[in-house]
Amino acid sequence: MLPPSIEMVRQLVATPSVSSPDQRFDQSNRGVIELLAEWAAGLGFVVRIESLAGDPGKANLIATLGEGEDGLVLSGHTDTVPFNAERWTDDPLVLTEREGKLFGLGTADMKGFFAAALHAVSRFDPAAIRRPITILGTADEESTMNGARALAEKGERLGRYAIIGEPTGLRAIRKHKGVFCVRVTVGGKAGHASNPALGVNAIEGLQRVIAALQSWRDTIGDRYHDEDFEVPTPTLSFGRISGGDSPNRICAECTLEVDIRLLPGMERQAVVVELRDVVANALAEGSWTSDLRAVGGHADAFSGPSDAAFTGTVETLCGCSAESALFGTEAPYLAELGLQTLVLGAGDIAVAHQPDEYVTIAAIERATDLYARLIQRFCTDAP
Ligand SMILES: [Zn+2]
Repeated sequence: MLPPSIEMVRQLVATPSVSSPDQRFDQSNRGVIELLAEWAAGLGFVVRIESLAGDPGKANLIATLGEGEDGLVLSGHTDTVPFNAERWTDDPLVLTEREGKLFGLGTADMKGFFAAALHAVSRFDPAAIRRPITILGTADEESTMNGARALAEKGERLGRYAIIGEPTGLRAIRKHKGVFCVRVTVGGKAGHASNPALGVNAIEGLQRVIAALQSWRDTIGDRYHDEDFEVPTPTLSFGRISGGDSPNRICAECTLEVDIRLLPGMERQAVVVELRDVVANALAEGSWTSDLRAVGGHADAFSGPSDAAFTGTVETLCGCSAESALFGTEAPYLAELGLQTLVLGAGDIAVAHQPDEYVTIAAIERATDLYARLIQRFCTDAP
């Protein structure tokens, strides 16, 4: 017997599973994996826990009910982003219910998903499952995507269709942009501020780089365009800048970190090469040094399932037409496994990664109903 959905979310939220490229915040996700494994085993799933190579604190869960080639994968990530407890109204690790909303870290993104998915499965007699239903719980989606990457590298066939339960307000998402970050470092030479000739000012170099990146952004918007997206062009956003140590010293080094979102069809490696040229050209008339590299994790763009019938069926069941999103998911990795993949889950992406993140109880119930209809359609013989 599964605990009630709210109790499941409460236990999942109380089990911290932060993933972060910053080692000070990074935590194991095994507590969450073990809770999910216990619940899934109780429903008759065959459960596997696969540690990530070289990182015993991190694991993926693969739980399968039924046998065969086809079938449906319900997939979610088990990790959350780091948090600032002092910016929350209540303790982010203690589920707090107010006015039909469940507040807590990861409620929308995406621990609530697992309660909905497992409760959807619990409505079926395992004997009625003709094609397998698989619950995937991945590690490190919020940082490196290493969990999904490990699954893609292993190449195991997990089913024919997949739903990723990221918070989409229960609208189906069929394509999304790719996301990655680059860090630009401009090197100069320190010197006394009284005489500019004594040094090479990295801040002044970076200023040229910023101007060049802005004009690159304009030209790339002319080259690539996809009206399916609310923001129809690739984007480049300046997120962090640092450098220098004192006003009376010429700045010797400066770094800039940039968020870049690519449209489906754009190659991340090619963009990095292009940006390196942009930076080098911007600094060509001076004696600065420069370095540009991709940092942190990345999500590739996702161009959607090729099986229009699958998309159509999901659209009918959720009463919506599939849209595009501006955020990245693990969908490209599941697509690599041959899974026809859509993103569809309870909660609002706008409250994810924020203090006072929440999902409504009603949305979890609607997600449960929806996943049950998908299981019925794709895993049983019932119409
Ligand atoms: Zn997420």
